[in-house]
Amino acid sequence: MYDLIIVGGGPAGLTAMIYAIRKRLNALLVSKDLGGKTQYHLELPWIEDYQVIRGLEIVNKFKSELEYLDFARQMESVDVIEKRLDGFIVRTRGGGDLEARAVIIATGTKQKRLDVPGEREFMMRGLCYSALSYAPLFIDRKAAVVGDGELALRSAAELATVAKHVHIIGLKKAVLNTALGKKLQAAKNVTVLEGYQVVEVLGNKFAEKLVVKDPKGQQEELEVEGTFVEMSLAPNSQMVAKLVTLDELGRIKVDPQGRTSLPGILAAGDVTDTFAEQVLVAVGDGAKAALSAYDYLLPAL
Ligand SMILES: Cc1cc2nc3c(=O)[nH]c(=O)nc-3n(C[C@H](O)[C@H](O)[C@H](O)COP(=O)(O)OP(=O)(O)OC[C@H]3O[C@@H](n4cnc5c(N)ncnc54)[C@H](O)[C@@H]3O)c2cc1C
Repeated sequence: MYDLIIVGGGPAGLTAMIYAIRKRLNALLVSKDLGGKTQYHLELPWIEDYQVIRGLEIVNKFKSELEYLDFARQMESVDVIEKRLDGFIVRTRGGGDLEARAVIIATGTKQKRLDVPGEREFMMRGLCYSALSYAPLFIDRKAAVVGDGELALRSAAELATVAKHVHIIGLKKAVLNTALGKKLQAAKNVTVLEGYQVVEVLGNKFAEKLVVKDPKGQQEELEVEGTFVEMSLAPNSQMVAKLVTLDELGRIKVDPQGRTSLPGILAAGDVTDTFAEQVLVAVGDGAKAALSAYDYLLPAL
């Protein structure tokens, strides 16, 4: 039986694993990949890498350390985690069962996609998720945000503080009626396209135009220099949904030390109700969860 299994190899899981190794825990990282979402980033001709806080130095350092330690990782998908008397069973998709006295969930989120022609072709080349990471770079640029809820509203509001123009496509009435929604509707550099849908993304090297359809089915083209798809983030928390408390968005509820409602299960990064989906936040959360797991395990070490 392992002392600790960490599920997820993004910034949160990698950091937790390196801490666990330093603490001499008998630990295993199980993940579909190493690096998680740090493998993706928005490319646009005017964006220089140094302008974005990507946290890659630390993540890549931990990643290469783990690539070298092949006994400490298993590249596989986890389906479910079950409680047993003296710990937990981690059931993998390949059919193997792993056992540990404590588990850290660091499985991130899944983005909802547009599912329209051109999305795949231009993804990360003018079309992206995470306005939170890139909005400040859109000074005097034309941007668009696609989404119906709070995430889209917040993203549009941040872009509107610097951009020349922001189109918001698909926001729900209830969201438009909030204080921020009303402020955006009144802003000179914002156009709210209520009831519209994106039907295609067009461009050459980068996405340059969105084809949108109004509620009557009429189509028009919008010129954009950057589009953010901010529809929703679905947390990959199903594997522990029956064991720990989730919030209304399906995120794992954690305390400031990364502890969930069930002792022995900890969580870190985007899959939790932590504030802000950012690499360095996930790194910090991963460190805290590993140290908390160590405290949990210490009496029996
Ligand atoms: C396009 C894009 C650009 C971004 N740009 C920036 C940026 O510039 N700066 C910044 O700070 N943040 C940026 N972010 C946000 C940042 O990438 C995330 O906040 C961060 O990666 C979260 O880390 P994490 O470890 O919690 O989750 P993730 O990075 O999502 O990692 C989750 C890990 O869990 C694994 N996993 C998931 N389900 C399972 C399963 N069932 N079994 C096994 N393994 C599983 C995945 O394979 C992955 O390894 C960006 C996000 C996106 C989408």
